[in-house]
Amino acid sequence: MLKIENLHAEIDGKPILKGLSLTVNAGEIHAIMGPNGAGKSTLGYVLGGRPGYEVTEGSITFDGQDLLEMEPHERAAAGVFLGFQYPVEIPGVSNVQFLRESLNAQRGARDEKPLSGAEFLKLARAEATRLEMDAEMLKRPVNVGFSGGEKKRNEMVQMGIISPKFAILDETDSGLDIDALRIVGDGINRIMRQPDKSVLLITHYQRLLDYVKPDVVHVLADGRITRTGGPELAQQLEREGYAEVAA
Ligand code: ADP
Ligand code: MG
Ligand code: MG
Repeated sequence: MLKIENLHAEIDGKPILKGLSLTVNAGEIHAIMGPNGAGKSTLGYVLGGRPGYEVTEGSITFDGQDLLEMEPHERAAAGVFLGFQYPVEIPGVSNVQFLRESLNAQRGARDEKPLSGAEFLKLARAEATRLEMDAEMLKRPVNVGFSGGEKKRNEMVQMGIISPKFAILDETDSGLDIDALRIVGDGINRIMRQPDKSVLLITHYQRLLDYVKPDVVHVLADGRITRTGGPELAQQLEREGYAEVAA
């Protein structure tokens, strides 16, 4: 589904990714772990097509298409979903408006007809209920005044509504208490643990991986993948630290 080869990327002329290669097949969940500043979020942004991140070498193909040639909205329409480490606040735009517009833009790109307000609200309420989010939050401006945990949960509601083919989730576990972690973990499994979907789960800690069992675990250090293994690699990292395991 996703094939990254020898990816080099820089921000403001500063090299951050330095020859990163990674293949994710359909139906797989891959965890990316690594020390602070390794380039994990940068990888997410490059995949999402965020401006300011310049790819200087290498390639990314998604479902056989050249992802780097696609605009961010084309990537989203093709089924790429990016969950942010720091979800943005959008004052003046309600959550339902935002979610409905995101979904309908993507349906439009696939020649599917837009959902009406009523159809959409039904879908959004059902998804909020599944993620144990108060449906009242759907009416509030996007993420404004939401706690860290509420933002992450809101992001999972968005993912459930959009049902992407490929999700990159950047530290979705940060700021979550134990109950929220379980709810979010269950959500990721329910929405994304399917034969035609894949996930890149970026995390510092093993704890989310107790809920969402990765098929493959990678260590990203200094802009490259330095180790790849199974779930046991995450446990080894937790015990021994990155300096020992990934140097
Ligand atoms: P991680 O998510 O693994 O903690 P990041 O991808 O956020 O790491 O950052 C990788 C490196 O890029 C860090 O050294 C960080 O300081 C640097 N970096 C990130 N954004 C910028 C920016 N806008 N300008 C300059 N350097 C940046
Ligand atoms: Mg970080
Ligand atoms: Mg980061």
